[in-house]
Amino acid sequence: MKATLVEFMDIAPGVRHFVFQTPAPLKFAPGQFVSLSADINGKNVTRAYSIANPPDGNRFDLCLNRVEDGAFSPYLFSMDPGATIEMREPLGTFTLPEPLRDSIFIATGTGIAPFRAMLPVALRSVPVTLLFGVRYESHLLYRIEFEEIERASSQFRFLPTLTQPNAAWTGRSGRVQNHLKEAIAGRTGLDFYLCGMRAMVDDVRALLKDMGFDRKQIRSEKYD
Ligand SMILES: Cc1cc2nc3c(=O)[nH]c(=O)nc-3n(C[C@H](O)[C@H](O)[C@H](O)COP(=O)(O)OP(=O)(O)OC[C@H]3O[C@@H](n4cnc5c(N)ncnc54)[C@H](O)[C@@H]3O)c2cc1C
Repeated sequence: MKATLVEFMDIAPGVRHFVFQTPAPLKFAPGQFVSLSADINGKNVTRAYSIANPPDGNRFDLCLNRVEDGAFSPYLFSMDPGATIEMREPLGTFTLPEPLRDSIFIATGTGIAPFRAMLPVALRSVPVTLLFGVRYESHLLYRIEFEEIERASSQFRFLPTLTQPNAAWTGRSGRVQNHLKEAIAGRTGLDFYLCGMRAMVDDVRALLKDMGFDRKQIRSEKYD
């Protein structure tokens, strides 16, 4: 199947939000990813990207970091609206289970992408806390959207944290690992969803296990 790039927005330094269109409505569960491929310098390269919006007919969004010297992401950043790219059907098991339980989403960087898709769906039935870690304030992807959802829904808590805050920042600082207790707030019947780079995901998983949570309560997606 081919996807056509409709538009893109630069949403942080080196991070781009892409809107693609497919010939037929795209069926997927929030949290799944698509695999995109292209011939680059004579090699066929394929990479996975989490879909960053809930199902929306023929349209899907991606949120991508431009990896300097990466084989694939710079190619996607070079695409202009109207260009097409080969893609495979959405896949993946990093999805919301039935029945849903009180949920904590933990993301770093572009690991926020699947949570932008899952959040509106999860919030229809359970409370959700989103703990989101980035380096700089300018990298708090989709911050305005999450703040708006927090204002509109008493079921949602948004906990951003910065590892490199500027002097004016009065919010949380440090890694997501430092804010697990605040996110958990004494609750036990929770499900955790972790997404981002391997180092964070493995570390948070180990900390949650040390706190007594069962591995069945922890789902994760690693980007590397
Ligand atoms: C299931 C799944 C979903 C993914 N979803 C996304 C997504 O929504 N957005 C996204 O930007 N990436 C996502 N990735 C990562 C993506 O598949 C590529 O690995 C990434 O774009 C780098 O590819 P590249 O060819 O440009 O770099 P490569 O030449 O493959 O270089 C790999 C280097 O890039 C680093 N890297 C990989 N992903 C990232 C990242 N997101 N930010 C910073 N460094 C990274 C790796 O640690 C490694 O050092 C996902 C990966 C998986 C497995």
